[in-house]
Amino acid sequence: MKKIAIIGAGISGLYIANLFKNSLNYEITIYEKNDTINSEDGYGIQLSVNSVKLLNKIGFNKLSDNEKFNPEKIDFFSMNSSNKICDLDITNFNTADIKYTTLKRSTLINFLKKDLGDIIKTGFKISKINDKEKQIKISFENNVTKECDYLIIADGVFSKSKNLISNNKVKPKYNDTLAIRGKLTKFPENVNKKNVALFLGPNFHHVIYPLNSNGDLNFIAIMKHSLSLEEQGNYSLFSENSFIKRILEKVPQEIKEFVTGIKELKIFPVFVSDEFLKIKNNNIHLIGDAFFAFPPSFAQGASQSIESAYELFMSLNTDKEINFFKKRANKLKMINFRSKFNLFAFHLSNPLIIFFRNIFLKRLVKNKKFLEYYLGRIYKT
Ligand SMILES: Cc1cc2nc3c(=O)[nH]c(=O)nc-3n(C[C@H](O)[C@H](O)[C@H](O)COP(=O)(O)OP(=O)(O)OC[C@H]3O[C@@H](n4cnc5c(N)ncnc54)[C@H](O)[C@@H]3O)c2cc1C
Repeated sequence: MKKIAIIGAGISGLYIANLFKNSLNYEITIYEKNDTINSEDGYGIQLSVNSVKLLNKIGFNKLSDNEKFNPEKIDFFSMNSSNKICDLDITNFNTADIKYTTLKRSTLINFLKKDLGDIIKTGFKISKINDKEKQIKISFENNVTKECDYLIIADGVFSKSKNLISNNKVKPKYNDTLAIRGKLTKFPENVNKKNVALFLGPNFHHVIYPLNSNGDLNFIAIMKHSLSLEEQGNYSLFSENSFIKRILEKVPQEIKEFVTGIKELKIFPVFVSDEFLKIKNNNIHLIGDAFFAFPPSFAQGASQSIESAYELFMSLNTDKEINFFKKRANKLKMINFRSKFNLFAFHLSNPLIIFFRNIFLKRLVKNKKFLEYYLGRIYKT
């Protein structure tokens, strides 16, 4: 039986462990740095059909309908006027049991970890990787060393394991945007509760969507903001009241009051990947954000984490020669381009250009060929 060590109990690490857990050929262990698994209670996640299809393979379709939601459309609004620009019917990509889904992040994490029991070892922060011998040796800050045949790196955008493998050469970079999150208690009046509402403003966009049938809502905003290198490295800055106040002052006037009223507001910098890391050792693989992280403006991070985990599982579990790295990198390049393009288009500030953007947007969301190209190619697994 081959031993697989998975570093990180996030969405990608937990999902791949679910796929391997009944395998007779592999013994799996997840090593997580925290003492408990962070489920980020209250915050939401959007899952497009590509990941819902893969999640259904481990029973996601049996999750109670009270715990998730299937929005019908994405409603685009202009922040200045609160007028609806247009809507995109996302049910076009749904089938009877595979539907675009929104839910609490904690619901997804609890679903993914529920059958893993003591496969998950918490309090294991990776500190060293030695892949020079036949067996890979991994050491942790708690002075424990383990050996494995395969190492799956799933420790997120700030991947320490990737740093160790690349000798500190591959690092994420600050995307010049801050994410603002919080809990909403009621829907703004002009918003349809069955849909995802996307508000576009100069250098700022925000998204509101239902998390379940009980009326819980998610709020996430992305704001353009430069940070000095010192600020980027100072994580405590983001919880300082003076910093939060300074950022809230920069929120567009039209929604300043609304954002200031949101509960449990959290602000954090968005980091993304700059390049791919091809690891020479064929028994060490990256998945999820550790493989590549892109801006959140295409809502594909979790879906791609799940897809990458599934593709790696298939490539390790079949005799067929599947080039996991090449296939994955090609798909992620397409998503990275779309995420960056969305961010650019969402944040336009020149009124004339915004006028033309809105005209294009109205046409494109109803153009089947375009949707098949822009979304369909990504939503296909
Ligand atoms: C603002 C924002 C909004 C987003 N919204 C969406 C959305 O709507 N839809 C969507 O699909 N995606 C979204 N994403 C992206 C999504 O959250 C991520 O892509 C996804 O969580 C990545 O999963 P992961 O398993 O790769 O990494 P993570 O979820 O980051 O998990 C990594 C795990 O590794 C552990 N770890 C870290 N370092 C070590 C170490 N040294 N040793 C051991 N363990 C370690 C961590 O504690 C953690 O448990 C959003 C991202 C942002 C920033």
